[in-house]
Amino acid sequence: MNYKFPQIQEVASRLTDPEIIKHQGKTILRSPELGKLFAHLKEMDSKDRAEFGQEINQLKTELLNMIDNQEDELTVLDPIDVTAPVDINVSSEKHPKLLSSSNGSRHPLMTEMDNILDIFYRMGFSSLESRQIDDDFHMFESLNFPKGHPARDDYDTFMTTEGLIAPAHTSTMQNRVLIEGKKLLDSNLPIATVLPGRVFRNEDVDARHGHTFYQIEGIYVDKGINTGNLISTFKTFLEEYYKQDMEIILQPFYFPFTEPSFEFVLSCPFCQKQGCNVCSYSGWIELGGCGMIHPKVLKMAGIESDIYTGFAWGFGVDRLVMMKHGIEDIRHFMAGKLEFLRQFS
Ligand SMILES: [Zn+2]
Repeated sequence: MNYKFPQIQEVASRLTDPEIIKHQGKTILRSPELGKLFAHLKEMDSKDRAEFGQEINQLKTELLNMIDNQEDELTVLDPIDVTAPVDINVSSEKHPKLLSSSNGSRHPLMTEMDNILDIFYRMGFSSLESRQIDDDFHMFESLNFPKGHPARDDYDTFMTTEGLIAPAHTSTMQNRVLIEGKKLLDSNLPIATVLPGRVFRNEDVDARHGHTFYQIEGIYVDKGINTGNLISTFKTFLEEYYKQDMEIILQPFYFPFTEPSFEFVLSCPFCQKQGCNVCSYSGWIELGGCGMIHPKVLKMAGIESDIYTGFAWGFGVDRLVMMKHGIEDIRHFMAGKLEFLRQFS
């Protein structure tokens, strides 16, 4: 743009240099040259004053437009993939050499989860993964833990500031599955579902306890279901998983959501009850909890508990896999150690 007043023209030709705009950005509007023009304006006689002032404003507008255009140019830079494992702006010779995927392996927990689910599918169960964040109703109330119930203390886990819960067990899914399964019962079909999932506990971590681990829950509801069905279902599963005959015994236990409740104990698959370090030389291994679903839990899902009964169980997948492969420390699963993981490739 051309300016009539030579002082303004001179300042304009300096400040509208694209390099100076790029370097100074908006601070250019506070430059001393512009300041001097404003000072000069005050000293001028009234004849040219208005026109001089107008030209200073035109110059400011020109500078502002140039700054805006330059900012637009900056925002249309080529997008970069921030998740790329290498800096894509660096030439490919400098990229680190990546391992090929054939050097990797599936995590043993995931492989065994597939094996476990495969057995239950063949036994007629469907599966549904449990949620990794849930609410108080599904974690406690729907399972017959009213507010303030002391048994809540046994499920010490993590909570968000909004009151959502990292589930301490996969039983959080029971109410949902029972409500959905009511249609099956109405059509004379059983509810038979397993619920694999990741669970969380505020736990002192050691070789046998982790703060994050996997569970698999199972529920079965129909007319005339009793504890004998529970034992035979579980025995069938374990014998298929460990490929050998096994003995199971139930010990009385307490859970608010089952009545009666048990802890199931299986004969040690490694020493045939002779005693070894896996079973702490007792010949028996405690694997998980189970019981007949409490009538209140069935009613909470709208199922008539005087017509239908059912059983539920939950066990830790990590422990089952540790026993199968003779893994001595649960912390290996989360450690990401390649020498551990490569044994399962
Ligand atoms: Zn043993």
